[in-house]
Amino acid sequence: MKQSAKVTPLRPKHPCPICGKASVRDIYPFCSARCKDIDLNRWLSGSYAIPVRDDEEEIDGGSKRDSNPAN
Ligand SMILES: [Zn+2]
Repeated sequence: MKQSAKVTPLRPKHPCPICGKASVRDIYPFCSARCKDIDLNRWLSGSYAIPVRDDEEEIDGGSKRDSNPAN
């Protein structure tokens, strides 16, 4: 009998990293396109962080240095 050969262990399903639900094969390891989008957004917002401090420093320092008419 070769019945035992048919018993194939299913791969352990990983939960969606966003919401924890069971992942779907098509969009593994996420459970839905929405969660996939959320993860992508997280990733992008992390690497595309724009430094806004430079602008503020320029305005602050520039106006103070120019105002010196005494000399
Ligand atoms: Zn999810």
